[in-house]
Amino acid sequence: MSILVYIENIDGTLKKSAFELLTYARAIGELTQQDVIALNIGTVDASSVNKIGEYGVEKLIQIDSEKLTQFVNQAYASIIAEVAQHIGANTVIIANSFNGKGLAPRIATKLGAALVDGAISLPTVENDVWKIKKTAFSNKAIAHTELHTSKRVITLTPNSFEAKVNPVSLTMETYDPKLVDGDFSTLIKNIVRATDKVALPDADIVVSAGRGLKGPENWGMIEELAAILGAATACSKPVSDAGWRPHSEHVGQTGLAVSPKLYIAIGISGAIQHLAGVSSSKTIVVINKDPEAPFFKVADYGIVGDAFEIIPQLIEAIKTYKNN
Ligand code: FAD
Repeated sequence: MSILVYIENIDGTLKKSAFELLTYARAIGELTQQDVIALNIGTVDASSVNKIGEYGVEKLIQIDSEKLTQFVNQAYASIIAEVAQHIGANTVIIANSFNGKGLAPRIATKLGAALVDGAISLPTVENDVWKIKKTAFSNKAIAHTELHTSKRVITLTPNSFEAKVNPVSLTMETYDPKLVDGDFSTLIKNIVRATDKVALPDADIVVSAGRGLKGPENWGMIEELAAILGAATACSKPVSDAGWRPHSEHVGQTGLAVSPKLYIAIGISGAIQHLAGVSSSKTIVVINKDPEAPFFKVADYGIVGDAFEIIPQLIEAIKTYKNN
């Protein structure tokens, strides 16, 4: 038996989550004495392939087909399940990403496997029962799940498991899956990336701002702060609803869920619907002029004050620190 880990790429470059998944899968492989095999669908560049071995996985199955250049949920799910059966994998690990969330239930159904979506821990395994922690109720609780099946599909929450280098030599083989016409009834014709900056779901640092910024003309300082920190930018729902920022930046219950190492919330009140998408961030810094703002209750660090005074000072302080 083995473990299959499906890694995602963007235009041929592996996503950051891929390395977290490889490290996570390798750790489960060591725990359960199983081989780990990575699966990539679509062309991937040579430096990304080399990194698969760097992160401790010895075998890559590579699938290339013109029909698979864009992500097609049904087809990718069929292929991942087919490869899992082909290699005799009892565990399939994928990212709890936008694509992964769509794939996981389909794969689990095809394999007759149990599903843990949004895992945040390694399993403990006792008498073939796997116990895994996952987030629940929009990150407000942690669920302790028990899997009593012989097959399982696990989606790993991004940023919940640190990628670690552990070089091994990699072998690669290609695989020709069955492509069923019925799996291609819904096709994505073109993808226009919202930004070429740091991708929000993958970002280690997120600088996020809300209605306290008063208007879109004030986002220059947010962009600048994000740029010097190498961070992605995000916003609250009313900000994207008002068209001040693109909808792709909206985080929260009805937007993207993120869990960066550092989340800086500027002029955001901290409504429960916003917190639902950001509260699993490792460190939360809140900047708000209202000391009673609910966000301070979940903050690791808080600054009470006017963002229009604090942010320029923060930018200058970081620049000085970097120059020294
Ligand atoms: P406000 O609540 O107006 O807060 C602005 C904050 O800025 C205040 O705390 C104020 O003290 C501070 N401020 C003002 N001026 C300054 C200054 N100069 N310097 C520093 N601070 C200042 N919201 C989301 O964000 N994401 C979601 O996914 C989401 N989903 C929702 C789903 C539903 C079903 C519902 C009903 C609501 C949802 N909301 C969501 C909306 C949510 O309830 C809040 O209304 C929203 O998060 C508030 O956005 P805000 O904090 O930017 O604005």
